[in-house]
Amino acid sequence: MKKRAVANKDCSACPALCCKNLSVRICKPENRTEVDDLKWQLRFDTVSVYIRSNRWYQHVEGRCMYLSDDDMCTIYADRPNTCRRHNPPDCEFFGDFYDVMIRTPEELDAYLESKKRKRRR
Ligand code: SF4
Ligand code: SF4
Repeated sequence: MKKRAVANKDCSACPALCCKNLSVRICKPENRTEVDDLKWQLRFDTVSVYIRSNRWYQHVEGRCMYLSDDDMCTIYADRPNTCRRHNPPDCEFFGDFYDVMIRTPEELDAYLESKKRKRRR
């Protein structure tokens, strides 16, 4: 993963990137039906899938309804635990948060095919 060189390892220079997307852990697709379902989701330009440390995640672009116009959390004291656990520098602002990013159905096919080829070797 690439790391961003920033002096302060805090949120001060970040435009609240983690409040502008949603990541949900998903199962690795294991059969044709699951691959088809995932490809169906990947048709949407706001949806992608990424793999990090062999774990699969669905990634959805979108802005949290509690983020103010100047990118501040308006419910900071009551923010969800998921937000509390998401801290710099292990986040999207300081480095790529994925090992593999898959943005389209074709990219998913290509990724799965390359894994299949590696297994055959
Ligand atoms: S946790 Fe990371 S992505 Fe979220 S606001 Fe802070 S620096 Fe930005
Ligand atoms: S609740 Fe607050 S910290 Fe959590 S995503 Fe929304 S704006 Fe960001």
